[in-house]
Amino acid sequence: MQEVSSPSFDAVVVGGGLAGLTAATILARGGCSVLLFEKANQLGGRARTKDHHGFFFNQGIHALYLTGTGEAVLRELDVTYQGKRSERESYEAYAKGSFHRLPIDPVSLRTTTLLQEESRMELGSLLMRLATLRPESLVGMSLQDWLDQQVVHPVVRQFVEAGARLATYTHAPQLLDASFTLDLVGKRPDALRLDGGWQTLVDGLSTQAQAAGARISTRTRVVAVETGQEAHLIHLTDGRTVQARAVVLAIEPARAAELVVNGPQHILRSYAEQTIPLYAACLDLALERLPHPERLTVLHLERPLFYANHAPNVRLAPEGGALLHLIKYLAPDEQSDADANRAEMEAWLDQLQPDWREAVVEQQFLPHMLVSSDLLQARRQGLSGRPEPAVPLYNQLYVAGDWVGMVDHLANASLVSAQTAAHLILKRTC
Ligand SMILES: Cc1cc2nc3c(=O)[nH]c(=O)nc-3n(C[C@H](O)[C@H](O)[C@H](O)COP(=O)(O)OP(=O)(O)OC[C@H]3O[C@@H](n4cnc5c(N)ncnc54)[C@H](O)[C@@H]3O)c2cc1C
Repeated sequence: MQEVSSPSFDAVVVGGGLAGLTAATILARGGCSVLLFEKANQLGGRARTKDHHGFFFNQGIHALYLTGTGEAVLRELDVTYQGKRSERESYEAYAKGSFHRLPIDPVSLRTTTLLQEESRMELGSLLMRLATLRPESLVGMSLQDWLDQQVVHPVVRQFVEAGARLATYTHAPQLLDASFTLDLVGKRPDALRLDGGWQTLVDGLSTQAQAAGARISTRTRVVAVETGQEAHLIHLTDGRTVQARAVVLAIEPARAAELVVNGPQHILRSYAEQTIPLYAACLDLALERLPHPERLTVLHLERPLFYANHAPNVRLAPEGGALLHLIKYLAPDEQSDADANRAEMEAWLDQLQPDWREAVVEQQFLPHMLVSSDLLQARRQGLSGRPEPAVPLYNQLYVAGDWVGMVDHLANASLVSAQTAAHLILKRTC
């Protein structure tokens, strides 16, 4: 990594996750002098991957949603990646202590042991309606209200709630915007498990950023941003100060609100106050062999739990090995108990993969991971309630991340909001 030497740049980016790296790359390619600060000793933020003897551990379960938005940004930046699409036909549901085929198409709907005659009919007609849903008609309605109005059988409700958790990582149907969620549940965009994990994206972006001339300073925490008319002052933890005409805050909203010490402080504070962060407990296990290799992906219908084996056909584990992910989606107001959550996940794994304990070679438990800085809230009209990347009225101050912009969610939102912020800066500054 290069050392910071010049005190003045066209743009400074705070945060070296997917959003920050995307913004830095586009700005540098567009001719801006750009400096990115990352407080950690490694780039990538939540998209980092650790290599444990050939097992690639992401920060909990990760798959790239192929909705088109994030892929377009990565394509623009020449970031290449490979992987394997989700195999939905192998998905199972877990309910009343047993496994059932997940009913998602005409064949599985007809044959699954999950449903009885009436619930089968109800889910069949619901799946047809969801496939042709006009999501804009549901903006502002909570998933819970929609379910209360539209669904009769408890098992059908559980199916939709589990699908919503899988698609959005949100265990709060009373808060979740029905429009975006049901669109995802109905369309079921493919998701890609990435060869080598998400570090592939991080490495691809940082290579492109540096090739374009962006300077990157890791282990450098920004402690304050003083906004000004002509330029902003960026204060670093070691007492140094850097000037920039434009600043992109590619960090969580609460951290952004703490950093900005004047001017738009109140705007950033209101962003932070309105967001509802999403957390999850993640248990990731590397196994030298799998007791039940046929068990790939299971949605728990009665508990906010999900299981997947991400290794088959993807370069994530050595030959014959398996990489299992369990996730417990945490409700926003939940006082989570790490030990109890881990015990719950392990007890379910005893059902999923009996004898797994003898085959474990590495494990990672992340009891309280930030998945997204904001859930898609019904009371804020879903996507349309999110702030735009340009902080209103304040010259050349921008935010980017999975809580910003009206396009998509999770990593795709980080990529798209960073792209938008960078293009705006290029128009106005460089
Ligand atoms: C368990 C889990 C599962 C997920 N699954 C998926 C999935 O399947 N699909 C999907 O699309 N997304 C998924 N996500 C979400 C995805 O990882 C994030 O949306 C994305 O990585 C966020 O990127 P970002 O750059 O916006 O933020 P971050 O990755 O959080 O990056 C912010 C960076 O800023 C740095 N920083 C903060 N403050 C400062 C400071 N003051 N000075 C300098 N640096 C600072 C941080 O260290 C960090 O590196 C998942 C997340 C988790 C945790």
